[in-house]
Amino acid sequence: MTHSNRSARLDALLRSGRLSRRDLLAAAAGLGLVGLLGAGETRAQQAPRFVADPFQLGVASGYPTADGFSLWTRLAPAPLQPDGGIERDALIAVQWQVAEDERFAKVVAEGGVRAVHELAYSVHVDVVGLRPDRVYFYRFIAGHAVSRIGRTRTAPAVDALPRALKFAFSSCQHYEQGYFNGYAQLLRDAPDLMLFLGDYIYENSWGDDLVRRHMGSEPYTLDEYRVRHAQYKTDPDLQDAHAGLPWLVTWDDHEVDNDPAADESEHADPRFLVRRAAAYQAYYEHMPLPRRMRPRVDGSMPIHTRVDYGQLARFFVLDDRQYRSAMACPDPSKRGGSTILDAATCAAIEDPQRSLLGREQEAWLYRELESSEARWNVVAQQTLLAPMDNQAGPGRTIWTDGWDGYPHSQRALIEALARPGLSNPLVIGGDMHANIIANVQADPSGKARTVAAEVCGTSMASQGWPQSEYDALRADNPQLLRLNSEERGYVLIEIGRDADVQLRAPETVKQRHSTVRTVGRYRVEDGVRGIQRA
Ligand code: FE
Ligand code: CA
Repeated sequence: MTHSNRSARLDALLRSGRLSRRDLLAAAAGLGLVGLLGAGETRAQQAPRFVADPFQLGVASGYPTADGFSLWTRLAPAPLQPDGGIERDALIAVQWQVAEDERFAKVVAEGGVRAVHELAYSVHVDVVGLRPDRVYFYRFIAGHAVSRIGRTRTAPAVDALPRALKFAFSSCQHYEQGYFNGYAQLLRDAPDLMLFLGDYIYENSWGDDLVRRHMGSEPYTLDEYRVRHAQYKTDPDLQDAHAGLPWLVTWDDHEVDNDPAADESEHADPRFLVRRAAAYQAYYEHMPLPRRMRPRVDGSMPIHTRVDYGQLARFFVLDDRQYRSAMACPDPSKRGGSTILDAATCAAIEDPQRSLLGREQEAWLYRELESSEARWNVVAQQTLLAPMDNQAGPGRTIWTDGWDGYPHSQRALIEALARPGLSNPLVIGGDMHANIIANVQADPSGKARTVAAEVCGTSMASQGWPQSEYDALRADNPQLLRLNSEERGYVLIEIGRDADVQLRAPETVKQRHSTVRTVGRYRVEDGVRGIQRA
C-alpha cells in the first residue's frame, strides 16, 4: 500500500466511527506502528540534502544502564510541518558518535542507523559497551549536518554502592500556560538523572493568562500529534534539559486526551484506540526511549520499567494510564472520566477485579518490590498514592482518577511497600499541579502507621487549582505535610545516607527566565519510614 492509500484509509476509518479489530490492525499498519518496516532493500541516502538544519528538535538521552544509555534525535528541517520537511519515502543514513570528551577526540562508540518516514525520521539508538558511572558526550551526523552535542552518563556498576545520587523530577508542562523556567536552574543543580512523570504535552488549550499558543487545534491524527510534540520540543529550555542529562519518562492522560482509562476515552469515543495509537507513536518518535519500547501493532506501547543505580537506588517507573480499569461511577452526563464522590455511594469502586496498573504490571511490580535489595526504592508514578479526603469538614470524598479511585490497587501497593525487608521506599509523582508531601499510612482509617515517604511534585508550567480549596482541606488530611498549588517547578532529591528533598520553584512562569529558589525542604532518614521537614 502506498502512503497516500494508507492515510486515506486511516482517515476514512477515523471518520466512519466504526472500527473492527481488523480495521484497527490495518490502521495501525498504516500508521507505521510496525516500527522499522522492511526498508532493507532500498539504499539509504548517504548524503541527504536538507532545506534547513535537520536537528532543530535537539538531541536527548535516557534510560542509563551500567554500560550504556538510549540516544534520540529526529530529523526535521521544518519541524512544525506535519512531514517535518522531509519528502515521504526517503531513507536517510544517520551516524551517531559517543565520546569521552566534548571535542570528540576520543570516540568510544559509533554506528549508523537509517531514519525512515514511518517513524517521522526519528532515531533511537541503544548504546552498550561503555564504562559505568561516567559522563559521555554524543552527537548525530546526517549528510553535512551535525547535531548539537549532548551530555549524558552511564549508571554505576550493578554491584557498586555509590556515595550519592542526585535526581530531579517534574511533570505537567502546559506550553500555553507557562514558560519552562525550571529547566535552566535544574541544569545548574547538576543532577545525574531527570524523571518526567506525565503530561509532557497537552492535547487541549485551557487556562488563564496564556503566554503562548499551541499550533493547530486538538490533535487526533498522527500528523497532528507529531506537530504538537515538535512544537513542545522547539522550547529552548526543554531542549537544553534533554541535551544536558539522561531522562526517564512516563506518560499520563494529556499525552493523548483528558482522563482516558486504557482504551476508553471519557466520552466513550469508539475511535479512541486509533487515536491513542497515533499519540503513543508520536510520543515514541520524540522521546529518548529504548527501542524495546517501540509501539506495537495492537496500539500498545510498554513503557513501565526498572532502572538501577548500583546498589544505592532502584527506580520503578510505572504506567498507570495504559492498562487501568474503567473509572468507577463516572459523571452520568459523560460515559467515562473522573469525578469526585463519596466512595460509600459507589459500589463499583470496591470491585476487586479493578486495577490501576493492570494485572500484569501489578504482578511485575510486586515481584520486584518483594525481591529488591536496593538501599532506596523509588516508585516513580503519575499521581498521589496517599489517600486524600477532598471534602472539607465532615464527610469524605475522593477523586476517582487517582489511586483513591482504585482502592484495591492502592491498598495492595501500600502493603507491598510496607514489607519490613524493603529498604527506604520513596514514592514520587506529579499530576496534581501542587507540591504535596505525604506520609503514606498502612491503614488510613485506623491508627497511623507510616509506611513510606511520598513527594508528589508540582507542575513545570501547568496552573494549579485554587490554594484556598486546598487550605480548607488541611484538617481533613493530617497525613499531608504540605499542600501548595501556587508553586511551579521541580523537585531535587539527593540521596546520600539520608535523602534531602528540595522543592525548587521559579518566581514566575508567566515571563521567560526567572530566578529559582528552594521553597520547601524535607528529609527522609535512612531506615526511618516517612518524611519530615528538614
Ligand atoms: Fe497535568
Ligand atoms: Ca472531610
